[in-house]
Amino acid sequence: MAHEEITKTSRGMKLVIRNIGLLLSGDLKKPILDADTVVVRDGRISAIGKEKELDAEGTANLIDANGTALVPGLIDSHVHPVAGDWTPRQNQFGWIDSCLHGGVTTMISAGEVHTPGRPKDVVGLKAMAITAQRSFATLRPSGVKVLAGAPVIEQGMVEEDFKMLAEAGVKFLGEVGLGSVKDGPTARQMVGWARKHGIQSTIHTGGPSIPGSGLIDRDVVLAADTDVIGHINGGHTALPDVQIRALCEQSERALEIVHNGNERAALFVLRTAKELGILHRVILGTDAPAGSGVQPLGIIRVIAALSSIAELPAEVAFCFATGNTARMRNLDCGLMEVGRSADFVFMDAPQHSAGKNLLESVRFGDLPGIGMTVIDGVVRSERSRNTPPAARVPQIVK
Ligand SMILES: [Zn+2]
Repeated sequence: MAHEEITKTSRGMKLVIRNIGLLLSGDLKKPILDADTVVVRDGRISAIGKEKELDAEGTANLIDANGTALVPGLIDSHVHPVAGDWTPRQNQFGWIDSCLHGGVTTMISAGEVHTPGRPKDVVGLKAMAITAQRSFATLRPSGVKVLAGAPVIEQGMVEEDFKMLAEAGVKFLGEVGLGSVKDGPTARQMVGWARKHGIQSTIHTGGPSIPGSGLIDRDVVLAADTDVIGHINGGHTALPDVQIRALCEQSERALEIVHNGNERAALFVLRTAKELGILHRVILGTDAPAGSGVQPLGIIRVIAALSSIAELPAEVAFCFATGNTARMRNLDCGLMEVGRSADFVFMDAPQHSAGKNLLESVRFGDLPGIGMTVIDGVVRSERSRNTPPAARVPQIVK
């Protein structure tokens, strides 16, 4: 397990990725780009196009994609990290590294709620959030960007608390509802203070996930008006369809589908979003680690399930875990665009898939084979130890 201090950067470095067989953009409006080469400078995308038209001079690093697909690094919108690459929930080490092997390059904390002895008093929860933010900003497990430090709101917090948290670098709230604030009006007031000071919010939607958590129904979700409707398909216990539909229709916030949720409800959300023309609001998470465990392949499993069962083009399903999340969550990754973070996953159809290529195999419900990951222009892993083997893998030329 290679941990990396964030101070080690790719500054001054140039990377060229050539011979890309399929370039996915992460953008629903145009999910497939007509290009075979991506150039990276200083950890960011500097050019996208045809190899013969691009400047490949002075290339320090060259990767031959070998005809595989290049996809923006996957974003898990809903994780519960604790400390480094350890989760006490299932007492596992190395879960983040394992998720990197499932194509995840960025994770967003929905609260460090599994921390043993988690403080619930206001000064304690603020201290813990700031500690988590600092800890994961300093040390990236296997290079994965873990955006952590997400306090769970408790009764008694005042606007000054949110201002102080924001000034200290906290950018996300943990799931509303996991603490003592479970009513709409209080949640709405605190979410409003958080938003005013630049902190994004999410909410625990549905029945209790584990002993100690509670029910958050449609009325509370709509009243709280968090930026993300966290696990709209339940975590695991989903709301009735009529309430889920109301959330799709009456809110304009992100609709987060998680792996550790109700699968039937996930399909209902997707079909409703399709019918209402709001697929741009669909984002994906795992909600791992959880009672259901850690799913290193959770995000690609949801992509393959939604694409195959809900009959959605695979390139569209990939947008949910890339560009959609980046836009709804204001991240600088997730899209194949000049200036964005050079976070990539190389994928191909798995060996012996019934599908002829990556997109067809996902449409048939197979998981993609991952051949390499890149974060900030630096190779972080090669052939995945967790996915079915990719038919083709990229090669580091120099
Ligand atoms: Zn939850």
